[in-house]
Amino acid sequence: MAMVGRRILEQRQAQAVAEAMAFHGTSQHAILAATHPVYHHSPVPSQDVQPDRPIGYGAFGVVWSVTDPRDGKRVALKKMPNVFQNLVSSKRVYRELRMLCFFKHENVLQAREILQPPPVEFFHEIYVISELMQSDLHKIIVSPQPLTSDHVKVFLYQILRGLKYLHSAKVLHRDIKPGNLLVNSNCVLKICDYGLARVEESDAQRHMTQEVVTQYYRPPEILMGARHYDYSVDLWSVGCIFAELIGRRILFQAQTPLLQLELITDLLGTPPLEDMTSACEGARVHMLRTAHKPPSLGALYTLSSQATHEAVDLLCRFLIFNPKKRITCIDALAHPYLDEGRLRYHSCMCQCCYNTNAGRQYTGDFEPVATATFDDSFEDGISSVQQVKDAKRETVISNCTVATVCSMH
Ligand SMILES: [Zn+2]
Repeated sequence: MAMVGRRILEQRQAQAVAEAMAFHGTSQHAILAATHPVYHHSPVPSQDVQPDRPIGYGAFGVVWSVTDPRDGKRVALKKMPNVFQNLVSSKRVYRELRMLCFFKHENVLQAREILQPPPVEFFHEIYVISELMQSDLHKIIVSPQPLTSDHVKVFLYQILRGLKYLHSAKVLHRDIKPGNLLVNSNCVLKICDYGLARVEESDAQRHMTQEVVTQYYRPPEILMGARHYDYSVDLWSVGCIFAELIGRRILFQAQTPLLQLELITDLLGTPPLEDMTSACEGARVHMLRTAHKPPSLGALYTLSSQATHEAVDLLCRFLIFNPKKRITCIDALAHPYLDEGRLRYHSCMCQCCYNTNAGRQYTGDFEPVATATFDDSFEDGISSVQQVKDAKRETVISNCTVATVCSMH
């Protein structure tokens, strides 16, 4: 099968770790000071400065927890390395930066600031400052701390709330996984890392890359070599994460893409031919040649005591082999399982509702959509690294704190 090969995300991970180690010799505080001379005039008392430390490794960057010398607040500093290595990576980073500045939603991470490095020393790197989130769902799931059904409901609600917004902006995330779902101490969740995100491709004849979505969360259509896919890839990943939150272990954890597909069909059964229309010929033939398996969805009830009828009913709507039959964000948010999560979120966690003397004033729109779709037309016509550099120099990304965003020399 075409999808059987080296895991590209493992390579990226290894590269990110190497970057972090190489980076370790440089103080992030020093970088903030070097890239923003004004920092020198407002030093934070040393006793307030916590040590800089790496807190995460995204698909294409390393994230550090640092202290902003201007106000002493802890922020997340993402280093995006090798920005101008080649045209593909230049365009990808530029797209990610624009997304970071475009998104405006409580459950979607956005950039507070993009630092402008000095011309020579940091030529290959861009630094992005965003809100610091203390943890992520992966760390929480593998930790010993209890996860009640209230936790699961409010986390799943926020994932879908953020994803509904991204999809309404016509953006496919393509790497929804627990490590990309940041969580703060108040259980507020934000989707992050747009390194693999792209605008939806409405033309089914246009090929899309298959090197997306971390394997455990990768939907069957991509495992089977689909040349075109849509928002439903993200919903499969959400289903896998929902099961992982309930069971405290990865739902489909295989060594290779082929074994990944085996695990999926062990649970869902062998799909009928009409549910494999987007699969490549070789994958379809392989599936039809292997012994027919019956579905065993009843196994989902054994995940934990939290696997109630309501939970399993919703879970089964995410874990649908045929992407066209898989539930959408909007429909999932209308499922009764999420009613309590919505109530909890808007009772005390959101920023869209507020308390008055007369009681809580609720917003009129619990799950808002984007006011505009993300426009990737800026990528058209860019055919060289120099053009990307020029675009970054000249473009002022609206709504970002720094006007001279991404200006490279
Ligand atoms: Zn609210």
